[in-house]
Amino acid sequence: VCPVGAIYEKDHTKRVYEALADEKKYVVAQTAPAVRVALGEEFGMPIGSIVTGKMVAALKRMGFDAVFDTDFAADLTIMEEGSELLERLKNGGKLPMITSCSPGWIAFCEKYYPEFIDNLSTCKSPHMMMGALVKSYYAEKKGLNPEDIYIVSIMPCTAKKLEIERPEMQHNGIKDVDAVLTTRELARMIKEMGIDFVNLPDEEYDEPLGMSTGAAVIFGATGGVMEAALRTVADIVEGKDLDKFDYEEVRGLEGVREATIRIDGKDIKVAIANGTGNAKKLLDKVKAGEVEYHFIEVMGCPGGCIMGGGQPIHNPNEMEKVKELRAKAIYEADKNLPIRKSHKNPAIQKLYEEFLGSPLSEKSHHLLHTHYSKKELYPLVK
Ligand code: SF4
Repeated sequence: VCPVGAIYEKDHTKRVYEALADEKKYVVAQTAPAVRVALGEEFGMPIGSIVTGKMVAALKRMGFDAVFDTDFAADLTIMEEGSELLERLKNGGKLPMITSCSPGWIAFCEKYYPEFIDNLSTCKSPHMMMGALVKSYYAEKKGLNPEDIYIVSIMPCTAKKLEIERPEMQHNGIKDVDAVLTTRELARMIKEMGIDFVNLPDEEYDEPLGMSTGAAVIFGATGGVMEAALRTVADIVEGKDLDKFDYEEVRGLEGVREATIRIDGKDIKVAIANGTGNAKKLLDKVKAGEVEYHFIEVMGCPGGCIMGGGQPIHNPNEMEKVKELRAKAIYEADKNLPIRKSHKNPAIQKLYEEFLGSPLSEKSHHLLHTHYSKKELYPLVK
């Protein structure tokens, strides 16, 4: 039995077809960082091809009214999570703070390591933040009724199908996100609709929730959330736009990694685990007092989202190579972007000016943060 319930994959294509056919609905797609480096594989393109523009073009041809980038919300996550870390460091909050953007990891923590629940960042995962924003900020801007908006998250992940059903992930009875299509399901729909994916021209995301930075795209690989957070936290603490922000020491594909980062004369100790088996190893050491950290990133899948349960499947003997190539593409996509720090994203700055106020504001807490609780184990594994 999958320890995090991620194999309970439900096909959401039928409900998405129905929403697209419903003229009353304003149907929005958002795409996760890891989908753009894997979707092309379903159409015979080389592993590690970056197909962001073709993916957006395909979604527009499928009939989505707006196509946004979950990377925008990843930048927002960094604003909120980075501020939360700084607050905990300054005011003696619960440490190590542990990332919360992987629902596979959250489900594992709630079931097997509930003693770490208070260590989790209260930030919702990026696609849930995006859902809450589209049904509030964007709805207000466009004069739309939130009840008429239908949000489809295109994700590398099967655990996100369970995440959108959590009762905490809604406001006034309206769900933040209505459906999750995996990379494989999206590919299937593109084929069923007869769209010639390989020959599509590149198209752009819609504004204002389509603008993002290199820091956001690296969320797709293990260590990426940590590096994105460090890029912003270091600039804030040092009060300048630092030139050195490629934190190579947190990159890599080993199951557990650690590093000490010097920021403004202080050592910040960080650790990264990918895959629940590796998370277990790391957390057992933290519990035993053998190691101490300020900040830990955990991703439920080995390699992070690039190897999520909804990604294209290859021969098991080739998966290590696939992981390497997809990770390489993620860091290449980061390098190719003109802005590579989340707090430098002008659309994020505007969002705070126009709507949220500041990170960790009351409105931010209401829309972008959540809570967790101890969960029972599945009967089969009791
Ligand atoms: Fe989903 Fe796996 Fe990514 Fe976690 S690491 S968000 S479980 S794909």
